[in-house]
Parts: sequence; C-alpha cells; structure tokens
Amino acid sequence: MIEYFTSALVLDAEDVGELDKRVFLYTKELGKVVAKAKSARKITSKLAAYLEPFNFIKIRLIEKNGFQVVDALNFGKIEISPENFAFLQFIKEMTFELQPDKKLWFYLRRKKFSYRQVLKIFGFDPDFAGCRVCAKNPVAYFSKTDQIFFCRQCVARGFKIPKNDLILLEK
Ligand SMILES: [Zn+2]
Repeated sequence: MIEYFTSALVLDAEDVGELDKRVFLYTKELGKVVAKAKSARKITSKLAAYLEPFNFIKIRLIEKNGFQVVDALNFGKIEISPENFAFLQFIKEMTFELQPDKKLWFYLRRKKFSYRQVLKIFGFDPDFAGCRVCAKNPVAYFSKTDQIFFCRQCVARGFKIPKNDLILLEK
C-alpha cells in the first residue's frame, strides 16, 4: 500500500453506489488520477464538499486496487461557470492518468483559462497549425477527438465535423 500526498484540482465527480464517489483529479505530483472516495456522500462528510469540481485541494491518497481518497483539505477554488466546467472536462479528456505535467499544473493554478494557451501546453500550438480542410485560413476550432484544427469558414460551410467535438478558440 503506497500513500501519496499532493495538491489537486477536482475536474469531475460521479456518484458510485449509495454513498461513494469517483473523483477525477488533476494532481501536481501524479497528473490525472481517478480515485474512489468511500462514504463521501454521507451528510457528515466534510470530504463531500471538497471533492466537487472547481476545488483545489490537498489530498491524501492510498493506492490499493486503484486509488482511494483518505483525506482532503480545500485551499482554493476556480470560478464556477459553464465555461470553466467545460474547460475542466476538456482537461479530463485530454490528459492521461499518471503522466504529471508541472507546466499544466501551474497553468491550472492561475485559475484563468484559455484553450489557445492550454493547447500549446499539450503540444498543439494553434499559432503554427493550419486548417485541416483548406490549409490556408487561421484556425478557430479544435477537434477533441481527432486533435486537428479547422478555420471559421470551413466550419460555417458545414464541413462534416460533429459540433459537440469542437472547441472554439478565443482570439
Ligand atoms: Zn479552412
């Protein structure tokens, strides 16, 4: 049984069974971690409030048939908004478990997010990318599934791209 203590941003949380939770964390030391929190939904559990998206927490985890949350302390929060929720989902989808990236961690700590900036950290720099369809216009969208860029014009022309897969890059 290995114990870890690290800082984390809660990206997402799901209910499991009657009382448990599954939390998706981006941690400073371990990168993305999916951990189970036993009895986290008991009304008396302080943990329940901390293990919600948008919270920065100091967390104690043990690894024993997967990660389990032992304890957590809140030390900050990002603004609760649909935009930030979508951004946290994006981080959850774009990262791999147990691949820490300090650059990403310190970016998340800034609490102000831009898809352009974070895509650079992921190695997809929009400034050097071309539209996959026309290859000439500046890019305005990023496809999460295919990890390619499109320009505004090609998307507006209805080139076949599932809309829910597209991230609009702010200027
Ligand atoms: Zn184009």
